[in-house]
Amino acid sequence: MNQHVEAIPALNDNYIWALVQGSNCVLVDPGEPGPALEFLEAGQLNLTGLLLTHHHPDHIGGVAGIRDRHPAPAWGPDDERMPADMETVGEGDSIALPGLDTELKVMETPGHTRSHIVFHGQGMLFSGDTLFSAGCGRLFEGTPEQMQASMDKLAGLPDETRFYCGHEYTESNCRFALQVEPDNPALRQRMNQVRELRSQDRMTLPETLGRDRQVNPFFRTREPSVIEAARGREEMPDERPATVFGVIRRWKDRF
Ligand code: ZN
Ligand code: FE
Repeated sequence: MNQHVEAIPALNDNYIWALVQGSNCVLVDPGEPGPALEFLEAGQLNLTGLLLTHHHPDHIGGVAGIRDRHPAPAWGPDDERMPADMETVGEGDSIALPGLDTELKVMETPGHTRSHIVFHGQGMLFSGDTLFSAGCGRLFEGTPEQMQASMDKLAGLPDETRFYCGHEYTESNCRFALQVEPDNPALRQRMNQVRELRSQDRMTLPETLGRDRQVNPFFRTREPSVIEAARGREEMPDERPATVFGVIRRWKDRF
């Protein structure tokens, strides 16, 4: 099974992920049609499916245009804002990717949007706008409690899981994370690596969950250093992970 994942840069800072095996290809979160169509044509690939994490235009904006040329089934969350003619999937569902020896499972991760889902399996996680490297999505439609629970779910996957997220936000996320934990050596190391990569216009993904857990403040709301930083930022009624999460998220929103 020689399957691989490729990144197709789209819009300002989005990635459309392509799972490719032989001449078959499944795309994740196509935010616009142009770069995806060029990718399929350049590789003479046969589109066999589309995986969609949430309804935001920068993740589904390419669906119609791509399917005009390459009709293929799509899977996504139960939400009336998703494209029509899509199979709805939810927590625990499995999707056998057509034409690929890959089966991915669905996890519901509300917070960024109320119906956001992620896909995982075979050491991979397509995390959309729930988890970014060294960060997480904004809480547009969910509470800190929900997003903390979603992050905890992702944190339950194996350390070596490689995650592929929706945006190249790693450098600014690391800059913020350093405000929260200036003395975190793993974070400093990641920042240096990320600066180096970005200065060469290279991507910072995928990252492993194990490494990200050591640097991402939104995975670290139970760490004394992060709790301490949150306490210095806002008065907190308690030090529950969701409370700390809320403080850190509000801080990031104003960063
Ligand atoms: Zn989004
Ligand atoms: Fe997005």
